[in-house]
Amino acid sequence: MKKLVVLGAAESGVGAAILARRQGCDVFVSDMGQIQPRYKSLLDDHAIAWEEGGHTESKILDADEVVKSPGIPPTAPMIVKLREKNIPIISEIEYAARFTDARMICITGSNGKTTTTSLIYHICRKAGMDVGLAGNIGHSLALQVAEAPHQNYVIELSSFQLDNMYDFRAHIAVLLNITPDHLDRYDFKMQNYVDSKMRILQNQQAEDTFVYWMGDEYVPTELARHSHPAALCGFSDEESTGCTACVKDGKLVVTTPVAFEMPVAELSLPGKHNLRNSMAAALATLAAGIDPEVVRAGLSDFPGVEHRLENAGCGHGIRFVNDSKATNVDACFCALESMTTPVVLIVGGKDKGNDYSPLFPLIREKCRALVYLGADNAKLHDSFDALGLPVADTHSMADCVSECVRLAKEGDTVLLSPCCASFDLFHNMEDRGEQFKACAKKWCE
Ligand code: ADP
Repeated sequence: MKKLVVLGAAESGVGAAILARRQGCDVFVSDMGQIQPRYKSLLDDHAIAWEEGGHTESKILDADEVVKSPGIPPTAPMIVKLREKNIPIISEIEYAARFTDARMICITGSNGKTTTTSLIYHICRKAGMDVGLAGNIGHSLALQVAEAPHQNYVIELSSFQLDNMYDFRAHIAVLLNITPDHLDRYDFKMQNYVDSKMRILQNQQAEDTFVYWMGDEYVPTELARHSHPAALCGFSDEESTGCTACVKDGKLVVTTPVAFEMPVAELSLPGKHNLRNSMAAALATLAAGIDPEVVRAGLSDFPGVEHRLENAGCGHGIRFVNDSKATNVDACFCALESMTTPVVLIVGGKDKGNDYSPLFPLIREKCRALVYLGADNAKLHDSFDALGLPVADTHSMADCVSECVRLAKEGDTVLLSPCCASFDLFHNMEDRGEQFKACAKKWCE
């Protein structure tokens, strides 16, 4: 009997364990931290052995194969030992894909993954497709393959998942953009991170489609360096040679795989970055054969995603926008770019090796003040104070929002778009966004 060890018992790990059990494997699940009660009972229900609070090395090093949660870094001692013993380590998506013939529509990029994945899924559902939503967005692919299989999946892929994918084939792959992020996991070498993202193309075949942004700093060059057979669908902010989708005369225009157009004003998502996400979604869904009428309707009635440029209320002339998901500099750049009023910008949190300088021109142009929100704001002071704007130093959301409204004037927008991860002061980015919305609501009342 094949011995499969799963490291990390959250959504993806538990899903992989259940699928492996169904396949008749001898499964053992191990988590360094505490396992959430609902996952413990799922494992118990399926008679799967598990441990928490540490790894039993003898059991783990006895595995034929290991499914690793994307959150565990390759430098973790147990991963290093597994590699020394040449035990294969794969991601949950790689594992799950072995047991399905479904069509895989996969989305990756530094920013815009969840928005574009949700938008594509929305359009697929509207078209009546038998489709599952999976991956980084929080639903296990393996669990769906095991218990409620679909003919199509829309899958959000992070670079951490891609790192442990080898034979997986994306029938329709979308690569939105590559900008510095998670460099702490890539030896602080941008090329390592770029290589990881480009893995979405590996194993694509002639009948497959690769959708990408032609304006990206890295992707067009990388494509020129690697030969691969899939049909290329590049999208571009303006009409340009070779593009299959662009914005022209106020319309989103697609030429390949089928002719399609719709007024930009009818798209449900605002901002330049979302225009790119909408073009990517149009290309991917048209490539999937969805009726252009349904694509048009889906692009115009998509309700949006929480914590991404989300309207968090308006009171006493001040508007609040929750972009808690902006955990890197480029996401904040796009958020600022889409602002149409003066901004009081909240930045800070757990820094991932950020270079903030690309933001300076936009901050000078759009910001009235900056409010720092983190356990340690020293790097923010070093980076931004020299811009000469009013700044405030805060360590809790309540203080942060009070400082924002003190510094804001009527007609301004208070924008939480923090460039950083949230784990220094909050459970996660959702917690940060919820606290922001609650404080904003209190003020607006
Ligand atoms: P991800 O899942 O890749 O983190 P999200 O869809 O959750 O992406 O969006 C995260 C943030 O990135 C948003 O708050 C928005 O400000 C920004 N963003 C969204 N789409 C893009 C894009 N195409 N290019 C750059 N930034 C984007």
